[in-house]
Amino acid sequence: MSGLMPARAHYFDGDAPVGQPVQPEISGDTLELKLEDGSTIRWPLSEIRQISDSAAKTNPMLRWVNDPLARLVLKDAKFLRDMPNLRRRSPPKGRGRLVAWALAAVAAVALQIGLLIPLLADNLAVLIPPEGERVLGEATLGHIRDALDETGLNPLEVCEVSKGKAALERLVTNLSGKRDFRQDVTVSVLDHEMVNAFALPGGFVVIFRGLIDAADGPDEVAAVLAHEIGHVISRDPTRHALRSAGSIGVLGLLFGDFAGGAAVLLLAERLISAQYSQGAETGADTFAYGVLSQAGINPGALGDMFESMRDKHGDSAGVTSHFLSHPTLSERITASRAVIDPDATYEPSMSDEDWAALQNICG
Ligand SMILES: [Zn+2]
Repeated sequence: MSGLMPARAHYFDGDAPVGQPVQPEISGDTLELKLEDGSTIRWPLSEIRQISDSAAKTNPMLRWVNDPLARLVLKDAKFLRDMPNLRRRSPPKGRGRLVAWALAAVAAVALQIGLLIPLLADNLAVLIPPEGERVLGEATLGHIRDALDETGLNPLEVCEVSKGKAALERLVTNLSGKRDFRQDVTVSVLDHEMVNAFALPGGFVVIFRGLIDAADGPDEVAAVLAHEIGHVISRDPTRHALRSAGSIGVLGLLFGDFAGGAAVLLLAERLISAQYSQGAETGADTFAYGVLSQAGINPGALGDMFESMRDKHGDSAGVTSHFLSHPTLSERITASRAVIDPDATYEPSMSDEDWAALQNICG
């Protein structure tokens, strides 16, 4: 007899262009729709939504949140009172897909930053001519000096008291020995209390006054200098700068005006606190041991410097210094002590007079 009853609704499955008449029934908390092919569609009442712009109250159009296409058009509003969430917003499928696309795009950019740029940087570092490195280094040193000045008015001062400069030059010559890297490095002291030193592309090595103040004698400064020269010789700073600049460039593309002062600060920060790979650090340490030993300077001085840093800051990072990155200072101290030759007679890296002059290089 049901065939004679007027259809109370039309079901559109989303594929067929026309709807089929159905008699909706409520069974517990489910709306049941018996289709012509004998199958039954079950929509939980709480998951049914009314499509808002199907305005006609006489023919409300419903959908189920988990089926983006199917529609049910009712002949009257009889069942609506049993459906508690008709007006609740649910994340539409389309928007979910959009979010997924956006996430995929972000992931692709992250991949570019994380993978492609280091790869490019490593290859670029090989191709970039020495003059290019020099320009890159000069520019970043300028940014760093600007970034570190607390008044924001003048770049941070380069210490240039002539006796101190002469003493520093003699130290580089003393370290240089047979390898003669004097043409490859430009060492300068910046007037800042940070206990740190770093290398930049183009052979710039920068020591902060704070490191000279904190050093227990000239050999510790010599050891740090030798370590930084090790980075210069393996061109670690060039690769690092290209990576940082590349990443910041991509961030600039993404965020537009991000590429202003913030990027420069970020770049400066990254270069000062350069987190080189463990291999790069170990390589620079090894280079330093060789240079120091060859110059007749106690290679254990590098360990001494690390030790006083560890006593001050602990073994972990957190201080803006690339010395405090991996490998842990304790391991490096042990390694440095192991290089000391018990039969050697080591000489101080500088005369007392030169050491005093270096300590006063900032005036
Ligand atoms: Zn290093």
